Order: sequence, then structure tokens, then C-alpha cells
Amino acid sequence: MRKQLIAANWKMYKTILETKDFIDKFLILIKSVNINNREIVLCPPFTSLYVASEMLKNTNIKLGAQNMYIEEKGAFTGEISPVMIKELNCEYVILGHSERRKYFNETDEFINKKMLMALKYGLIPIVCIGETLQEREENKTFEVLKYQVENSLANLTHEQAAKIVIAYEPVWAIGTGKNATPQQAEEAQSFIREVYANMYGKDVAERIRILYGGSIKPENFKEIISQKNVDGGLVGGASLDPESFFKICCV
Ligand code: PEP
Repeated sequence: MRKQLIAANWKMYKTILETKDFIDKFLILIKSVNINNREIVLCPPFTSLYVASEMLKNTNIKLGAQNMYIEEKGAFTGEISPVMIKELNCEYVILGHSERRKYFNETDEFINKKMLMALKYGLIPIVCIGETLQEREENKTFEVLKYQVENSLANLTHEQAAKIVIAYEPVWAIGTGKNATPQQAEEAQSFIREVYANMYGKDVAERIRILYGGSIKPENFKEIISQKNVDGGLVGGASLDPESFFKICCV
């Protein structure tokens, strides 16, 4: 049985004060229900990780970072290492988000290096993949997903391969208000699992969680997460408001 995972990707939103305000409100809401069957992860900007880490101590809400560099330390001005993230009690790190691929030219090969480093330092990578609108319209979705899985997720031991999380995030659905239909998500995600099974075996592929991401809202998530190969969600815009993220966690 795969434990469902719902992760909030705040992107470059929320100051420290805003983070405190969100967590104060969110903890009150989440304590009113009993969610033991799902993992809930907040991924604030780096500057908010410390305060979030302090506030989430003794709760079952977990913490993740949105990115990291491929070295432990060194002369890499402006970068953050896996060791630093781990020190802030992060369990997860989002890697290869489409915004990083687009604005920071991250390739699958580079994302692969990051993923291996994340695992080396005890972080669970949430590796994002997904096709653009043009690729979908040109019927290249499966080809693109296969390339991304085979390259960004290469070189793992079987033990490591069973730990990672994949987020299927069609680029055309991110921040657009136009989510994939549950059927589109299921079709892509069962394909991703199949490609992964060819790399690491069926047993390993059946163990990993594949999240859907792209314009998730409280209203559309129930049907999406009911799909066989959808093991949770990576939520952007709708995770910025404590009530809306709470509703998504509870659907
Ligand atoms: C994301 O940033 O990973 C994302 C899915 O964004 P949104 O939910 O806003 O589409």
C-alpha cells in the first residue's frame, strides 16, 4: 500500500511573517481532523525553512525544500546544499520543477545529479516531469515522459529507486487553472510507472509514489486522487491559503 502524499509548493511566495501566519492557521485546522493515512509536506522558500521547522516540531506535518545544489559545500555563490537543507529538518526536496527547467535551464542530466546527492544525504527527492502543451499537441507526451524518466531517474540502486517520489506535472496545467482530467493524469502516470518498472523492476515501481500536479483545487482533487496511479498531489497556487490547502489535504 502506498501512503498518499500531499505537498505544498509555495514557490517564491511568503515572507517569514506570512509563513508563521499560514502555519498558525493551518495547524489549528489540521488538528481538528485525523489524517493518518496521508503524509503532508510544506515546501516554503529557503528563507522560511527555519521558522517552519521550529513551528512544525512535534507535529506530523513534514518539511521540504524547493531546490538544492549538487555539492555538499564550496564556492558556489547563492546555492544551498543538501546538508544545509537536512540540518533544517527537511525530509523532502523538490527537484526539476518545470519552472527550474524553463528559467534556469535545468536538464534531466543535471536533475539526476541533484537527485543522487539528495539521496546520499538522506533527503527524499520529489522529481518533477511533464510535457509542454506543444509536446502534447504534437502527440509527443509519452516520448517526452519516457526520456525524462529514463534520464532524470537513472543510476539508482534498487534500494534508492524504491524511495523516490515522482511528480507528473504537465507544464500546460501549472498555474493555468486548466488541470489535467483524471483520465489524462491516470494515463500518463500509469505509463510513467511502466517505464520505471522497465528500469528497476515491477516491485520497485509499485512501491514508489507518483503525484499529480497542475492547478489542483479542493473541487477537482477528489476525482484525480481516486485514480489508481495517482498517489497524491503537488499543489502550487492553492497551497498558499491555509483553508484551501487544508481542504485539499482532506478530500
Ligand atoms: C506547482 O507549482 O508545482 C504547481 C502544480 O502549481 P499550481 O498548482 O499552481 O498549478
